[in-house]
Amino acid sequence: MIYLDNNATTAIDPAVAAAMAEEYSLGPANASSQHAVGRAAAQRMDDAVQRIGVSLGCDFSLPGGPRLILTSGGTESNNLALAGLGGPHSPLLVSSLEHASVLAFAQRSEKNGRRVFYAPATCDGVVDVDAFTDQLHQASRLADVLPVVSIMSANNETGVIQPIESISSVCRAAGASLHVDATQSFGKVPFDVKSIDADAITVTSHKFHGPAGVGALWLAPGVSLEPQFFGGEQQLTTRPGTEPVALVIGMAIALQLAVDNQSVACQRMSQLRDHLEAQLFDAIPDLLIHGSSATRLPSTTCVSFPGVDRQNMLMALDLAGIACSSGSACSSGSSPPSHVLQAMRAEDWAIRSAIRFSVSRLSTMQEVTQAIELICRVYNRLRSGSIVEN
Ligand code: PLP
Repeated sequence: MIYLDNNATTAIDPAVAAAMAEEYSLGPANASSQHAVGRAAAQRMDDAVQRIGVSLGCDFSLPGGPRLILTSGGTESNNLALAGLGGPHSPLLVSSLEHASVLAFAQRSEKNGRRVFYAPATCDGVVDVDAFTDQLHQASRLADVLPVVSIMSANNETGVIQPIESISSVCRAAGASLHVDATQSFGKVPFDVKSIDADAITVTSHKFHGPAGVGALWLAPGVSLEPQFFGGEQQLTTRPGTEPVALVIGMAIALQLAVDNQSVACQRMSQLRDHLEAQLFDAIPDLLIHGSSATRLPSTTCVSFPGVDRQNMLMALDLAGIACSSGSACSSGSSPPSHVLQAMRAEDWAIRSAIRFSVSRLSTMQEVTQAIELICRVYNRLRSGSIVEN
């Protein structure tokens, strides 16, 4: 199987798997237990959190400094940020390009009476900063509580990098809290949590060759988060529950490798992605690449194949030995039309036929070259028998 679905999840780096296996071999590890075994586990976990701090350029041991709330992954971190920053009546402003974990939270909040704004995107898949600014000013005038904003650093479907610095300046000027969903950025592009000037940032380990089921919410100095779970003293009661020590250790090592290898990885992924796009274009000149005129993650391409249905293409590629996706992983089971491409005002045919390929630093040129041949073969076969019109 040629794995080109790395925006959905990545293979665990062997060094990460080895460190986790070693941790599991040490026996029980409840970092809240008072006995020596528990205290040792707590020490190993604290070391891992400090290691994450080094990778992010922060010191989590400083009183009044930034904090790291450990979570089960990106979905939880996003929900925690949206629910816990501001108050239940703070107006919420998200972009129409966000991941389902943000949009579904926003829609539910709206049903419960919270005022929600959805910032539009340009046709290139970038949040429209002027429209965003107008909406934020409207939101600020609405209530006596300040708005909460959530914007992703890079889109998971198109790879388009979002104008976080501009968004952050607008939020600061309006006094709004800013949460950044940086799920897709770590290890792919330079991403400095401190210079972004956000209140909270989502991290999830399985997108950068760490284990699934663990992530974090970085909190800027002085930012407090209203707890959403109750019943334990862990993490100063902000997010109670027994910490998964081995997963946290795995995330720490994966993040360190991601940050240390980022520039080489970025070059390598760009080379693979650009080769894939160039060769597909040569073979299928009426192909459409979404967001290609914007700055994108080096790993990602979202391609519409004229005249075929994305679900048929996905299944045929699967049978041919290529793993890729139509839309984001969480929606690909039922595959509703991509809300991201809709927000970009893509034409219907393009939405119907869009497939996402995503490489990682572990992908190879041999895999990509083989994939190009298979994709073209599958496409030509489907197109010749296609019932979907342009
Ligand atoms: N945010 C973005 C942009 C994502 O791409 C994803 C996963 O695809 C998530 C959030 C959810 O992360 P997790 O799978 O760790 O819950």
